[in-house]
Amino acid sequence: SGGYEDPLLAGLNPQQRIAVEYRGPALLIVAGAGSGKTSVLTRRIASLIGTREAWPSQILAITFTNKAAAEMRERVGALLGQTAEGMWISTFHSACVRILRREAENFGFTKSFTIYDSHDSRTLIKRIIKDLQADTYGFTVAGVAGKISKLKNELADADSYARTANFNDPQEELFVEIFRQYTRSLNAANAFDFDDLIGQTVYLFRAFPNVAEHYRRRFRHILVDEYQDTNHAQYALIRELTRPVTEGTGFDERSAGLPGASLTVVGDSDQSIYAFRGADIRNIVEFERDFPGAKTVLLEQNYRSTQNILTAANAVISNNFDRKDKKLWTDVGDGEKITGFTGYSGHDEAQFVADEIAKLHDSGTPYKDVAVFYRTNAQTRALEEIFIRSAVPYRVLGGTRFYERAEIKDVLAYLIAVANPRDALALRRILNTPKRGIGPATETALGFFAESNEVSYRDAMRRSTELGLGPKVTQAILDLATLLDEATEMIDPERNAGPVTVAEILTLLLDRSGYVVALRAGRDPQDEARAENVEELVAVTKEFQKNNPGGSLVDFLTEVSLVAAADELDDTSGTVSLMTLHTAKGLEYEAVFLTGVEEDLLPHRMSASEPGGPAEERRLFYVGITRARKRLYLSLAMTRAQYGETAVAMPSRYLQEIPAELIDWRQSPGMATSRGGTQPRALNANRSSGGGFASRTPSRASDSLSFTDRALPRVKAEWPNRVTAQVRDNGDLELEPGDRIRHTDFGEGRVNAVTGEGTKRVAHVQFDAAGSKKLLIKIAPIEKI
Ligand code: ATP
Ligand code: MG
Repeated sequence: SGGYEDPLLAGLNPQQRIAVEYRGPALLIVAGAGSGKTSVLTRRIASLIGTREAWPSQILAITFTNKAAAEMRERVGALLGQTAEGMWISTFHSACVRILRREAENFGFTKSFTIYDSHDSRTLIKRIIKDLQADTYGFTVAGVAGKISKLKNELADADSYARTANFNDPQEELFVEIFRQYTRSLNAANAFDFDDLIGQTVYLFRAFPNVAEHYRRRFRHILVDEYQDTNHAQYALIRELTRPVTEGTGFDERSAGLPGASLTVVGDSDQSIYAFRGADIRNIVEFERDFPGAKTVLLEQNYRSTQNILTAANAVISNNFDRKDKKLWTDVGDGEKITGFTGYSGHDEAQFVADEIAKLHDSGTPYKDVAVFYRTNAQTRALEEIFIRSAVPYRVLGGTRFYERAEIKDVLAYLIAVANPRDALALRRILNTPKRGIGPATETALGFFAESNEVSYRDAMRRSTELGLGPKVTQAILDLATLLDEATEMIDPERNAGPVTVAEILTLLLDRSGYVVALRAGRDPQDEARAENVEELVAVTKEFQKNNPGGSLVDFLTEVSLVAAADELDDTSGTVSLMTLHTAKGLEYEAVFLTGVEEDLLPHRMSASEPGGPAEERRLFYVGITRARKRLYLSLAMTRAQYGETAVAMPSRYLQEIPAELIDWRQSPGMATSRGGTQPRALNANRSSGGGFASRTPSRASDSLSFTDRALPRVKAEWPNRVTAQVRDNGDLELEPGDRIRHTDFGEGRVNAVTGEGTKRVAHVQFDAAGSKKLLIKIAPIEKI
């Protein structure tokens, strides 16, 4: 009607507008992918501040990644026309670290506690298992770590678990002991593991009501994105924070009787993909019961994808039971069809992806608007090889992470040892790194000394003269202890020499410990690259100081501990992004390649047999599909090198859930049926006799993959047969060393050896032009000549 429109509401559809403007104790926004949930949350924050109903400092918003938090903060600022200081927009973990840093002294920790990542936790568990010889009872590090994590996400600790455990079972008894020792080690080290960050904050609020009340008074509006993936501990945290303020403290009587903070949660049950980490879909399903009087808003218009992509997503997810049906729609039109591709191998598939990306790039899609998703990290190897060869610039998010490299962990351990003198894990890591002639027996002896004298590991080092070790070893330990003490002194806020930067501390440690010099003198060809990584870390500390002028060593270490895969995204980088489907949550790209759409990968073979597994994997597929704005590619390979061997791959069961007319199937050139062509075809005989791949598909020679054939009725029960029908099968092709063969892609070659049995027989072939290859005889496009 051309009237004045509030810029905070501009462009919103009616439902979105209701969600932004609603004022009440609790609001649930449930909606499918791309319907503007995150956008609405952002607008709501801006609206609360813009209308002066809330101060920025009264806002606590929880996002799924640090990067999403930064974006939200920026957008709120843009909507308000000024940066709003004092808002807490962060992940659950970051928010809890902030709270714990302030409050840790209440319960036996210090401000400078260490955050153990899963690698650190496992190192600790490994040592405990070894000490208790628990491995002989079948305990594995991964098994114990997983169980402890699961219990912590349910807010159980070793004691509460012990009360329910069956103590006639020696296994259980031993597990409880491991859990106890693990907890004790963390406490002694002044450290929290990842799950503790949430769990201990809940504990803090429950054990210290006046601390909880402080935060309840402060945060009057709490907003949570991706609520479907909260676990029980996170749910409990939200409940603690939203309780009414019952008592005013001495200096703030007015706040007594304050109602609980208003709570807004947004989510999509269909995108719950973290059940394996304890995410509980019930948190969203039961929201209305838990927060009586809650208002629910549904959003159905999708603003991200084309109709074809949405129809595919809707069709796939409608196969899950126990869900509220919601239909996403868009008014941007059908768009292009989905492109399907079947390659001969993972390399073949990767080549297709690289070629298509090159085409997209040529026609104006910048690399940064393209993403490639996969289910498992192992799939990146083939993709990376081909991308490098094809000169496609790319970044792997969360691959071998910079901060997980051994040399970076070493150097960080120095910094941690300085920041948190109680951290034995860090000290033990650097004790003989670089080599100082301090052996494992000495390392253990220091641990025993610390335990029996009830002092810290660092104290034990300072008192190493009392251990009766050789003079050289003793001196080496004392030198290291002195270096650490000096560095700790540097960061002491009470000292008079003024503030010191993280880079300065790091440089001191690197110089005096001789770490880089030792690397440079090493004979391992990788050492030079490692030394460069350490230099990169020095650069990171300088960058940190530039962005956080007053930032302390502890602030730096916190930032480092909390980077998640999706935080590595950089909009300005001009590269294609490679990531797992789990990392892709919440993101969107112009063009998306979803690779490895095969059984055993999607659904992953570990989840296929678990209750709820295939449904969760379907949601993962749904998440992947709905990241695409304009172009979606689904690809698979007929053979996949996985778990150390090459195996025949089957198309994912989820593919057939997409209406066939939405997908344009293409296939590897090496697999095309070329009638009477000059290219050597391996399986002509098979094909015409009805035993080979594609043979059961009637006519339609140009479309040889049976499941793409629209002439066939889409009968689900028929699927397994149709799947096998399209796999190339050489039957019992006899091959022995010395035979000559011809391969459709590699040309002629000589068989050097044949290994394996039955369907897993592998020919080791020296090709005349293409070098040596290993081929799975059953399905390789080869013939004997
Ligand atoms: P997901 O479930 O994947 O997290 P979401 O529901 O959070 O998705 P958003 O990321 O907020 O959805 O929005 C998806 C896209 O639609 C974004 O590009 C956003 O800018 C755009 N969008 C949202 N609402 C509107 C609107 N009213 N008008 C135009 N574009 C919109
Ligand atoms: Mg979102």
